Amino acid sequence: SVARLVDGFDTARSADLFDAACKLIPGGVNSTARATWSGWNPYPLFVEGGQGSRLRDVDGNEYIDYLLGLGPMIFGHRPPRVTQAVVDFIQQRGTVFALPTADEALLAQKIVDAVPSVERVRLCNTGTEAVLYATRLARAFTKRNKIIRFEGMYHGFSDGVYWSKHPSIDKAGPDARPVPVPQGPGMPKGVEENLIILPWNDAQALADAIAREGDSIAAVLTEPVMCNTGCILPRPGYLEAMRELTSKHGVVLIFDEVITGFRLGLAGAQGRLGIRPDLSVFAKGIGGGFPVAAMGGRADIMALVANGTVSMAGTYSANGIAIAAANAALDELNTPGLYAQLDAVSDELRFGLGKVMSDAGLPAYVVGVGPLMQVWFATKEIHNYRDAERHADQEIFRRWWQGMLARGVLFHPGAYENLFVSTAHTRDDVAATLEAATQVAAELA
Ligand code: PLP
Repeated sequence: SVARLVDGFDTARSADLFDAACKLIPGGVNSTARATWSGWNPYPLFVEGGQGSRLRDVDGNEYIDYLLGLGPMIFGHRPPRVTQAVVDFIQQRGTVFALPTADEALLAQKIVDAVPSVERVRLCNTGTEAVLYATRLARAFTKRNKIIRFEGMYHGFSDGVYWSKHPSIDKAGPDARPVPVPQGPGMPKGVEENLIILPWNDAQALADAIAREGDSIAAVLTEPVMCNTGCILPRPGYLEAMRELTSKHGVVLIFDEVITGFRLGLAGAQGRLGIRPDLSVFAKGIGGGFPVAAMGGRADIMALVANGTVSMAGTYSANGIAIAAANAALDELNTPGLYAQLDAVSDELRFGLGKVMSDAGLPAYVVGVGPLMQVWFATKEIHNYRDAERHADQEIFRRWWQGMLARGVLFHPGAYENLFVSTAHTRDDVAATLEAATQVAAELA
């Protein structure tokens, strides 16, 4: 009786492969979000492969995939146009040249055309890098040091921002004035002096911080929709207040659209919500599954990169794979009607899940926008990280996740992650998902 992900559901080969991997790879995985302590307990599924909206594990189980690689697989697995573009590029032209190609400006043009706030753009490989560049640039532009970031958000794993992602709230200071908590040991001492941690969705807390320390604040770094503590929408007027306060005090507003960018529409969350940040960061949405990221924004700020004042290096930045993938992905995303269709299928899932929960009488609700959502098992509305810590029922979420997994529906086991819908998901996928959800909800009620 070895512990399984779900009792009576065969994932034995994943368990064996995990045991073997743990002897060589610390924790058995190559990223925290796949680790036992992130919810893949007692082991993660090992994957055989995927096609469209489907993913198959090494035990032969097939799932409707709402994990989608944590977001990049916006067209589903093995998207033909992107895959072919990458294969053609690397076979016919190469991978890394340490010299520019004409394709880079083509891609930059597509990004600039799609996102009105982006007048100039630089490419790199991951969201972590792009955030690092954005914060460095904001500090250089303002000649100030401090960055405001919000409890419960994730902006990549670099030392400067990997603080207060999901701190234990008894160690994280008062609700209105949290203290920075490092994401584990090894973070250099002193970095936190350049960080101000605030509760999200609280315009007064932001106004107070700017009133106190405005002259030393370089940037406010935020996701426009909070996607790393489940899914939490901005309160009406909050982002508008953020925009006004930052503009007034010469603070650079950085939108981390790693998840929302090119997913909530071509212009991302900023287009959907009508806010114009100074700098933006994109990653998961633009590469069709390949590692590509972009950082861009106001021409006067980006000018510091142009004249070499601020250094943005990278052997692999704008490599052949990245450029081919992103050019093809953006062409695909420009397909007329694509987002309307993606939203329609996603809305069906979101409304459907909400109805399943209320029909079953469960204390749960679904929050999301477009192809991005999470189920909150909570009796109170959740507006920020501390609300989630205090009111979200992690135990029932776990049982919900297990029930769905055993019925062939895959999403991340963590309540603080999201369900992603791809353009490959069909109404039939949604119907099958809702049927499974109805059965699981009946068990949980
Ligand atoms: N920013 C946000 C909002 C993210 O969700 C992530 C990754 O999940 C990152 C930054 C880091 O991106 P990457 O994993 O590509 O370094």
